[in-house]
Amino acid sequence: MKTRLIFLGPPGAGKGTQASIVSSRFSLPWLATGDMLRDEIARKTTLGIAAKNYVDDGKLVADEVVNAILKERLREHRNGFVLDGYPRTIEQAEYLDSIVTLDKVLFFDAPEDVLVERIINRRICPACNAVYNISEYKPKVDGVCDRDGTRLELRSDDNAQVASFRIKTFWEKTAPLVSYYFEKDILAKITASLPFDEVTREILQVLESD
Ligand code: ADP
Ligand code: AMP
Repeated sequence: MKTRLIFLGPPGAGKGTQASIVSSRFSLPWLATGDMLRDEIARKTTLGIAAKNYVDDGKLVADEVVNAILKERLREHRNGFVLDGYPRTIEQAEYLDSIVTLDKVLFFDAPEDVLVERIINRRICPACNAVYNISEYKPKVDGVCDRDGTRLELRSDDNAQVASFRIKTFWEKTAPLVSYYFEKDILAKITASLPFDEVTREILQVLESD
């Protein structure tokens, strides 16, 4: 079983949704740099205050800042993790290679219209980071997290304009990682536009294969 995993793909592809499933199924920590940054912003830490404008505008936060947060969080989990939203640049990928060996990188592939639609409909729980969708994957009670009752929120960067910019940034800065990991022979492509269960099934096949 592969346990040191990266979920790579454009915003809205479903990385967090599937990371949460894989993380509970195999008791692996789900480490999402976006969630870590939003937490710093909500707590108004020095780092959060510095990162806020970048995140709101859909721009990448500096490699050194994200690498430092990631290193701290990865410290106790060297043997297994689901990394979601990291790395996003070749520099971050090289940094990650210097601190850990990866088993598999799953590339979540979906067309832009699907991504924008999902992003606009996304709602998140600011307490536990659970991900919902107002059209397909609704909470049991409207606007409230099933797990802890917290009021769900629309992310400040989840609007059509910033979403398009983030998708463009993905293709410019992050997509080179697809070839980077393909050349290392650890890349698997996932058809992320499929319904939830089918995406999960594809992922499990990859993780459980030799
Ligand atoms: P990412 O972490 O890649 O940005 P998320 O996991 O947050 O993406 O998913 C984005 C939105 O799309 C969420 O509202 C989620 O509920 C929804 N979503 C995720 N996977 C699917 C799917 N397979 N089919 C339909 N909607 C999905
Ligand atoms: P996400 O939750 O993955 O969609 O990330 C939300 C935002 O956080 C991104 O648009 C960036 O501003 C920032 N961010 C998250 N992860 C990274 C990363 N690995 N490198 C740079 N910025 C990041």
